[in-house]
Amino acid sequence: MAKAVVNQDACVGCESCVGACPVSAISVDGGKAKVDPDACVECGTCVSTCPVGAISQD
Ligand code: SF4
Ligand code: SF4
Repeated sequence: MAKAVVNQDACVGCESCVGACPVSAISVDGGKAKVDPDACVECGTCVSTCPVGAISQD
């Protein structure tokens, strides 16, 4: 696995991922989610939580 990355074009700012992340590594700023790579523990929860498939782990 790898750090989660948000596709800025696909994100609709719903904030579902923010509450789903167990280590609070995701924040939404300006209507787009962003992952703090230093905090992400690569669990994949946000990837399956995002309703529009905007988060991936490369
Ligand atoms: S992969 Fe897990 S730890 Fe990383 S941002 Fe997503 S929910 Fe948070
Ligand atoms: S769950 Fe997906 S669409 Fe919603 S804020 Fe997070 S990345 Fe954006």
